[in-house]
Amino acid sequence: MDTNRDCGCDSARERIDILIDRELTEMECADVRAHCASCESCQEEVALLERLTDKFRQACAEPAPDNLRISILNSLKNQNGIVDA
Ligand SMILES: [Zn+2]
Repeated sequence: MDTNRDCGCDSARERIDILIDRELTEMECADVRAHCASCESCQEEVALLERLTDKFRQACAEPAPDNLRISILNSLKNQNGIVDA
């Protein structure tokens, strides 16, 4: 495996749909967003769906409990060396 944390288009698209249908966890949102950050076509997919519904924003804006947030951030850092939160 490499250090690329990109979950891939198929996985991202799958979760974009779920993300629109119902709330994802913050970590799942982070995965999808991380992929979209480097993938224009998925970015457009999210932007399109985002315009159609505000559920995406609600799901990702909803703050997780502090301890959960911290443990997610730490695990992301440990796995990927990415501090983008
Ligand atoms: Zn993609």
